[in-house]
Amino acid sequence: MYQADPHRYDTMPYRRCGRSGLLLPAVSLGLWHNFGDNAPYENMRALCRTAFDQGITHFDLADNYGPAPGAAERNFGRILREDFRPHRDELIISTKAGYLMWEGPYGDWGSRKHLLAGLDKSLQRMGLDYVDIFYHHRMDPATPLEETMEALAQAVRSGKALYVGLSNYDGPTLERAAAILDELHCPFVICQNRYSLFDRKIEENGLKESVGKVSRGLITFSPLAQGRLTDRYLHGIPADSRIRTDGRYLKEKDITPEVVAKIRALNEVAARRGQTLAEMALAWLLAQPVVTSVLIGASRPEQILDNIRAVENTAFAPEELAEIDAICAG
Ligand code: NDP
Repeated sequence: MYQADPHRYDTMPYRRCGRSGLLLPAVSLGLWHNFGDNAPYENMRALCRTAFDQGITHFDLADNYGPAPGAAERNFGRILREDFRPHRDELIISTKAGYLMWEGPYGDWGSRKHLLAGLDKSLQRMGLDYVDIFYHHRMDPATPLEETMEALAQAVRSGKALYVGLSNYDGPTLERAAAILDELHCPFVICQNRYSLFDRKIEENGLKESVGKVSRGLITFSPLAQGRLTDRYLHGIPADSRIRTDGRYLKEKDITPEVVAKIRALNEVAARRGQTLAEMALAWLLAQPVVTSVLIGASRPEQILDNIRAVENTAFAPEELAEIDAICAG
C-alpha cells in the first residue's frame, strides 16, 4: 500500500495560474515519455509516487501519449486506482485532444465532434469522472475558432473538465481565443507551450507577450529540451537516454558538436551557481513572472529529485543572464 509522504507540502512552492483560483506546483510532471506500453509499470509508479511525495500535484497527459496512443492515460489510470485514489482532490490532472487518435474525418484536429468524443475516451481510459484541465492540443487552421472554443466551454458545462487550456497556440490566435472564451464565461486559465534556454519560439511568435496581456498562466513543456539541458549528453549518448531508448522525437542528429559546446558552457555557468545544469535551466524559466510551472519529464525518480531543487535558487545576476543568452545564441 502506498502511503503518501506526510511532509509532501513542506517545500514545493505553488504559483497562481494567471488571475484564476488555481495554484500549480512550480514543477509539474508530464507523461509524454516513459508511460507507454513499452515501459515498465513499476518505474511509472515510482515516478508518480516520487513526484507526489515531493509536492508535485500536477500530472499532465494527452490522449495520444504512448506508445501506443492512449497507453499513458491507461497506465496512469491504473496508478490512480492503485495508489492515488484517496488523493484525487489533491491532484490536478490534465489531458488534451487535437492530434490524430482514430480513423476517419473526426479523429483529429479541433472540431466539436473530435474534442468532445476525445475527452470522453480520455476519461474512460483514466477511469475518471472529470479532468482538472482539458486542453486543445494544437491550433486547427480549418475549424472556426468559435467552434473549438465552444467545445471547450461545453466540456466544462458538462462537468467533465474544471478548467480549460490551449496548447501550442501563437500570440494572435491566443488573444482571439481568450476573447471568445471570456464571452462564453469559460474558465480558460492556462497556455502550454514549448519554452527553454534552447527554444525561444514563444518570444518570437507573440505567445509570451500575449499570455501576460490576457493574464493567463503559462506552463512550459520540454524545459530541459528533452534532456539536452542536463549533463546527459556531455560525454556521448548514453544507452539509457531518450535518444537510445525512444528516438521518436529526440534524435542522435540533434546532438551536434555545436550543441555539446553550448551544453558544456552552460554546465560551467550552472556549476558556478552551485546548481546542476538541469536545475539552472528550470530556474531560468521559473525566474520569469509569466511562467507558472515548468513541465518536466523524467525517466528515473532521481531526476525528479534533482529537478525540484531548481526552486532553491531562481535569482540570476544580469551578467549571468547575459552570459547564458550569449552561449545559447552562439
Ligand atoms: P524535458 O525537457 O524535461 O525532458 C525530460 C527528459 O530529460 C527526461 O525524460 C530525461 O530523459 C531527461 N532528464 C530529465 N531530468 C534530468 C536530469 N535531472 N538529469 C538528466 N537527464 C534528465 O521534458 P519532456 O520533453 O519530457 O516534456 C515534458 C512534458 O511536457 C511531457 O511529458 C508532456 O506532458 C509535455 N509536452 C507537451 C507537448 C504539447 O504539445 N503540449 C509536447 C511535448 C511535451 P532520459 O530518458 O534521457 O533520461
